[in-house]
Amino acid sequence: MAKKTKKFRTEVNELLNLVISALYSNREIFLRELLSNASDAIDKARFESLSDKSIAEDDSNWRIKIFADKEARTIKIIDNGIGMNVEDVENNIGTIARSGTKAFMQKLHESKQNDLPEMIGQFGVGFYSSFIVADEVEVFTRKAGEDPSTGVKWRSKGTGSYSIEEAEKATRGTEITLFLKEDTDEFMEEWKIRKIVKQYSDYLEYPVVMDVTHTETPKDEEGKVIEGAEPIVTVEEDTLNSQKALWTRSKSDISEDEYKEFYKHISGDFGNPLETIHFNVEGNFEFSSVLFIPEKAPFDMFTQNDKKGVHLYVKRVFIMDDCKALMPEYLRFVKGVVDSADLPLNVSREILQEDKLIAKIQSNLVKKVLGALKTMKDKDYDKYLTFYKEFGKVLKEGMHSDFANKEKLQDLMLFESSNTNAGEFISLKQYVERMPSDQKEIYFVSGQARSAVENSPHLEIFKKKGFEVLFFLDPIDEWVAQSLMEYDGKPVKSIVKGDVNLDEQDEEEIKKEAEEFKTPLEAIQKSLDEDIKEVRFSRRLTDSPCCLVADEYAMSANMERIMEAMNQGMPKQKRILELNKDHKIVQHVMNLAETDSTSEQFKDFTSLLYDQALLVEGSPVQNPAAFAQKITKLMEANLS
Ligand code: ADP
Repeated sequence: MAKKTKKFRTEVNELLNLVISALYSNREIFLRELLSNASDAIDKARFESLSDKSIAEDDSNWRIKIFADKEARTIKIIDNGIGMNVEDVENNIGTIARSGTKAFMQKLHESKQNDLPEMIGQFGVGFYSSFIVADEVEVFTRKAGEDPSTGVKWRSKGTGSYSIEEAEKATRGTEITLFLKEDTDEFMEEWKIRKIVKQYSDYLEYPVVMDVTHTETPKDEEGKVIEGAEPIVTVEEDTLNSQKALWTRSKSDISEDEYKEFYKHISGDFGNPLETIHFNVEGNFEFSSVLFIPEKAPFDMFTQNDKKGVHLYVKRVFIMDDCKALMPEYLRFVKGVVDSADLPLNVSREILQEDKLIAKIQSNLVKKVLGALKTMKDKDYDKYLTFYKEFGKVLKEGMHSDFANKEKLQDLMLFESSNTNAGEFISLKQYVERMPSDQKEIYFVSGQARSAVENSPHLEIFKKKGFEVLFFLDPIDEWVAQSLMEYDGKPVKSIVKGDVNLDEQDEEEIKKEAEEFKTPLEAIQKSLDEDIKEVRFSRRLTDSPCCLVADEYAMSANMERIMEAMNQGMPKQKRILELNKDHKIVQHVMNLAETDSTSEQFKDFTSLLYDQALLVEGSPVQNPAAFAQKITKLMEANLS
C-alpha cells in the first residue's frame, strides 16, 4: 500500500479541539492513557499466547518502554502487545467508532466550559489525549502473528487529516511517538515521567521501563575522588512501577488515589468512582474482586456500546475485558475486575455463559453490589441519590429480570409521590411507614412526567383521604409495577385501573344506583360505543366530571403509549368512562340522555367529556379538529 492521506471524520476534528482545550490543565494524563492502551494491548497478546505458542516464542518479555529524547523533543511509548494491522488502525485510530458520538458532541457544544473535562470523561478520549502535548503523533505498529512487512505507519498533526502507509516493522507491537509542543519540556524529564507513572500507572501489571543515565565520579581504591578523571556514565533500564495487581493487595495498604487511578485504567472513565467494593471469597471456590460504581453514567449507557465492564482474570492472567457472564444486564454500569483461582486459563466466551462456577461468582458479585447500595442508602442517603439519579433507571430493570433479588431490589427503589416535591424521592418502606391507619393498599399512578400526573383527576379521592400516591415516571416503571405486586404484605395498585371504593360505599347501594340510572348511562355508552366499553359512576372523582380507567388487568394508557413508542403498538383496548354523578355537567348530560338523547347537544357533550378525559390523562384526542369545533360552538353559545 502506497502512502495515503485521509481526512478525519468531522466529529474527530471537533472532538480533538475540545479534548485539547478541556484537558489542558491536566496535561499529564496523556501518559496514563497511552500506558493504559499499551497495557491492554499486552493483555490481549498474552491471552492469545495461551493458545498460540508462537506469540510467546517471539517475545514474552512483556513490557512497556518509555523513551524521552530532549534533542528530538519526542517521547516514545513502546509495547510488545497485540499491535494493529492497516485495518485495525483505520478502525481504531482516527475514527470514532461509537454510535451516538454526534449527539454527544452536540451536548458538549451546549455545555459550559467548566463542565467540559467531566463530560469528556464520560466519553473516554484515550488515544486522542496525545494531542494535548504533541503537535504531531506517529503510530508505528505491527500485529502479532503477522509478517514484518505488514507493519503500518500512521501519522497526524491532529488537524483534519492523517497519513497511513505500510512500513516494515521488525518487532510485534506498537510504538507511539509524540512530537512535543513547545512548553512541554517537563514531560521529557526523568523525574516527571517517574512521578506520572507512579501516580497514575503504578498498579499496571507489566513493567513500565525507561533508560536512566547514571553519572559517577571515578574514585580510587580508598574512595577518594580522582582529580581530572572523566565521569563514568552508565545507562540502565529502570522499572518505574511497582506492578502489584491492585486486587491482590490488602485493602488497608491501598490509598483512595490508587483505587481511583485503577478505576480509570479499567473503565476508560476520566471521572472518579462513586463507590469501591474490594473483597475476596474463600472456601469451595476462590476469587478476588474489586468492583466500582461510577459517579456518572456514560453517555451511551442505553445504546450499550460501552465495552468496558467487568474484566476477568484467571490466576492474574487477563482473559477478557467485558465479561458479560459476570454481571447481569441491569448492573451493567458496574466496572471492575474478578480474578478467579479455579477457572481454566483457556476459558472461552461460550463456555463462560454456561459455566456453573461463573454463575456462582456472578451471584456473589450481585450480592456484594446490592449490599453496598443498601449500605449507601442507609448510611449516606445523599450519595445514594447521586447514584440513583444516574443509574436508577438501569437498576429498575432488575425488578423484572432478577427474581431472586426482588426483595433487595425493591428496597433500593425510590419514587416521587403526591406528597414529595418535584425531584424528591421516597422509598417503599418510607411510604408504608407513613400510611394512615385506614389505608390498606399502596397506590401509584404512571405517566410521562410529574406535570402529567400530579393534577390527574384520578388522584382526587386520594388527596381528599390523605393517601399518598407514588408517581411512576420512567417508562421502565410500568415493568416495575408488573413485578411489584405487593410490598410488606400490602397490595400495590394503580389508581387508573380497576375499581376504587375508598369511602367504602355499600355494594348494594352501588348496584341500586346503577340500576336507577341504567337508561342514561346506557345512552351515554351508546353514543361513545366505538371508544369505550362501559360507563359507570366514579368513586375516585371529587372535582372533575369524568376520567378514563382501565380494567384491573388491562394495559394502562401510559403503557400503551410506551409500547407504541417502541413500535410495538397493540390493538387499542377499550376503556371505562367514569362519571362524577355530583358534577353539574354530568347531571346535565344525564338529563339530556333521558329527555333528548338524539339531540346534537347530547352527542357533542358526551364526546367532549370523553375527549377531556383523554386529554387529562395525557392521551391525544382522536379528532382534534372536531374537538376544536365543538369547543368553538360552546364558546359562541356562551357569547349570545
Ligand atoms: P479505548 O482505549 O478507550 O478503546 P483509545 O482511543 O485509547 O480508546 O484507543 C482506541 C483503540 O485503538 C483501542 O481500543 C485499541 O483497539 C487501539 N489501540 C490503541 N492503542 C493501542 C496499542 N498500544 N496497541 C494496540 N492497539 C491499540
